[in-house]
Amino acid sequence: VKARGLTQDLLASVSLGILLFSANVSAWTSAANAYYLRQDRQDALLACLTAMLLAALATYGLLRLARKTPSLKTPLTWLALPVVLFTLNRLRASTGLPFPPGPAPKLIAGILLALLLYQTAKSPALVGRRLHLVVRWSAAFALMVLGTLAQSLFFGPAIDPETQGGPATTKPLILWAVFDELDQGWLFDHRPPELKLPNFDRLAAQSLTGSKVERPGPETLVSIPALTIGKPVKQSVIASSRDLDLTLTNGTHERWSEADTIFSTMKKRGRTIAIDGFYHNYPGVFRNQIPQIKTTTYLVSGFWPMLEENLWLLLPGELRLKGQAMLGNASLLNVVGPEQHRTLADSQLANLTQILQTRSADFVFFHCRLPHRPWLQNDYFGNLKAADSLLGQVIKSLEAQNRWNETTLLLTSDHNLRESLRGTPRNTLVPFILKLPNQRYPLQTNAPIQATNQRALLEAIDSHQIQSPNQAAQLLTR
Ligand SMILES: [Zn+2]
Repeated sequence: VKARGLTQDLLASVSLGILLFSANVSAWTSAANAYYLRQDRQDALLACLTAMLLAALATYGLLRLARKTPSLKTPLTWLALPVVLFTLNRLRASTGLPFPPGPAPKLIAGILLALLLYQTAKSPALVGRRLHLVVRWSAAFALMVLGTLAQSLFFGPAIDPETQGGPATTKPLILWAVFDELDQGWLFDHRPPELKLPNFDRLAAQSLTGSKVERPGPETLVSIPALTIGKPVKQSVIASSRDLDLTLTNGTHERWSEADTIFSTMKKRGRTIAIDGFYHNYPGVFRNQIPQIKTTTYLVSGFWPMLEENLWLLLPGELRLKGQAMLGNASLLNVVGPEQHRTLADSQLANLTQILQTRSADFVFFHCRLPHRPWLQNDYFGNLKAADSLLGQVIKSLEAQNRWNETTLLLTSDHNLRESLRGTPRNTLVPFILKLPNQRYPLQTNAPIQATNQRALLEAIDSHQIQSPNQAAQLLTR
């Protein structure tokens, strides 16, 4: 009888573990998560399974405790029921089953729950049996939905493979470099004297610079599509793992993958395009149009951060956010850790260098993860230094190939630094640095520039309509 009790508890615990796990799977395979690229599936699966085992182990411990200590039975049951109900509700949501809207259904569900709790609390002798019943039913339900949900984790369209380039091209290079969260104020206008950024300065000293370029949008999800389509975007919503639904400022809707972009134009004109990206699911969105796409992940990756994420997912949203805020820097979930951020920035640079050295593209869109968070050293300034050094290496690589002179480099950002630093008032300006082929001398324009005009500018440079910094400044400010 004792052994049977043990087996029952073990089965009940594993069942609850599976239930929690299947609720997590849906969180992992949502369109949003798939859009931002989960690159290491094996780690993701291992982290999910480990979280499941930990949950089962904890349940088992509590069950044994409840059996040994009768006085704990009631409080533990009170604890267990909401957990099961919360998980069932999440599964319901993930399978798309609607919960009737309005307060009445929630009130009825609440009363039923209270009655259930009251009954179990009133007759402690039944608690064990009731709990097992709940868990058994939940497990049956979980197994039914687990099959379909888990499928998408293993076979789903979440991760799109990077694509590879073709033969070398001989056209002069156009490189559009968008450094994520590069702030005009901190880069130039209010830079502290001790912060040395020699490569940005060197580039600016032979370029057209704009001092009043309003950011194309408040966040990456909006800004990058706006830059590529060359029109202001009001709203950008994840439509699927492979697309964004863009609402333009004039109210019309466009899918990013189908929209007319700078890539469409450059392709029509016979240019070979490459993207070296960050954050967006570039391979997913542009896989049919662009022969060569590399990208690095934005979300947490690696076993330990993903295990932490899985454990957080066991909690309801509010509790999760509060808990994560309390844990702060101790959390592994700082998007990616600083070490990983550095490694991924290195691999982004390596990808770009490879594209440049093999001449496998002549129009390159480089969306650089620096100087975006997490901070590599103490603060934003450390990331600015890293971005500066990365820029230096890109220029050096082109110089080594004798291509720097003929190259058009347009350097900008998707938005300013979105947090205050040293108490200086923030503005929402982004840098604009354009080096044209054979340009040696700087020119600065202080007229307001709409960031989304950069698409038209690059297309005009490509068709030789614009050949001097003065012409470029005129186009931008007209
Ligand atoms: Zn951004």
